[in-house]
Amino acid sequence: MDRNLSDAVLGLSKRSTRVVIVDPQRDFTLQYNGSLGVLGTEANSSYAERVIAATIDLKHHGFIILATKDWHPKDHTSFASQHQGRKPFETITLSHDLPDGTKRTYEQILWPDHCVQGSEGANFFLPENLIDQFFVKGTRPEFDSYSGIKDDGDLETELSAYLDHNTQIKTLIIYGLATDYCVQATVIDAVAKGLNVVLIKNLISAVDLKSGEKAIRAMESTGKVTICESVYS
Ligand SMILES: [Zn+2]
Repeated sequence: MDRNLSDAVLGLSKRSTRVVIVDPQRDFTLQYNGSLGVLGTEANSSYAERVIAATIDLKHHGFIILATKDWHPKDHTSFASQHQGRKPFETITLSHDLPDGTKRTYEQILWPDHCVQGSEGANFFLPENLIDQFFVKGTRPEFDSYSGIKDDGDLETELSAYLDHNTQIKTLIIYGLATDYCVQATVIDAVAKGLNVVLIKNLISAVDLKSGEKAIRAMESTGKVTICESVYS
């Protein structure tokens, strides 16, 4: 079970590093017939198996494993089903008041219903006992939250509070789904908090190949993200 973890990962201090798996949920995988299955997660892709194997080894080596969980009420605004006459993957314009009194108008991609609270598809595809602590996101009906750190209405998640509270944490090892949405948003917000990120390339997958490549370039251009092909050497 114990493969050789790469030096890029093993060299990190367990105390100042956390693993953050972004949305490792059935609905984002084709293997589990997810409603929003991401390319590269087909049953024959071994995506889930790679994530599980890597997580077991990281945990075995003493890293604390965190995960984010997309956890939407069934009337969530990101669902096409909530907007009459709209189909998944169309874009609409939403407008909301922010806590500071300003108004934000932004484009929202409409998704198939996914990760509905309590549904089968919202479950993790890896054994729950591998995850030391998980943090929900996207729980407010009117705001989406690609980021595991704050939602589109700028409300910080419990993960954000955890990272702020544990000031010894300097680096996050990040992987999960999907590269061009929740992984990217979480990485960018982690960097904005002053954290370094090690992104594991063979444990992420994008909704769209081109936007996945663009997302990787955007993350890299922060200068705080190290792209690791694999956790194994
Ligand atoms: Zn979602």
